[in-house]
Amino acid sequence: MKKRLILNFTEGNVEEPITYFLIKNYDLLVNILKAEIYPEEGGNLLMEMEGDEKTIKKSINYLKSRNVEVVNVDRKIHFREEDCIYCGSCTAVCCTGSLSIDKKTWKIVFNKEKCLVCGLCAEACPLSLFEVSFGN
Ligand code: SF4
Ligand code: SF4
Repeated sequence: MKKRLILNFTEGNVEEPITYFLIKNYDLLVNILKAEIYPEEGGNLLMEMEGDEKTIKKSINYLKSRNVEVVNVDRKIHFREEDCIYCGSCTAVCCTGSLSIDKKTWKIVFNKEKCLVCGLCAEACPLSLFEVSFGN
């Protein structure tokens, strides 16, 4: 399975080699998709993990034991679909394929597992129907 997570590092743990030990000690494919991290301050990292469910759970427990906050990417983006007028502006700017139009219903299909939390859809939507936050 694949899981996209946002890891929040604090000033207390940002200088520890936590990601190094995560990759070294767990049998996972780890892909870092986005990072906004500052020495002595902390920050966030968007990571995709691929492996079996048990190993992903263990690795999340490891991160939490090092005081890293771990949040599923879908908790960081909200879409008020009920007010959508299906203009397509958001799908035109979403370069990951996370947003697309269903050709049968003409409704927006939102696959949050592909989202990079870039915020372009929020800028493009004329009705401000997206809330996107990479940080806390
Ligand atoms: S935040 Fe970026 S990647 Fe995610 S749905 Fe919006 S445009 Fe697509
Ligand atoms: S840009 Fe906004 S109104 Fe237009 S399709 Fe996307 S969510 Fe709906």
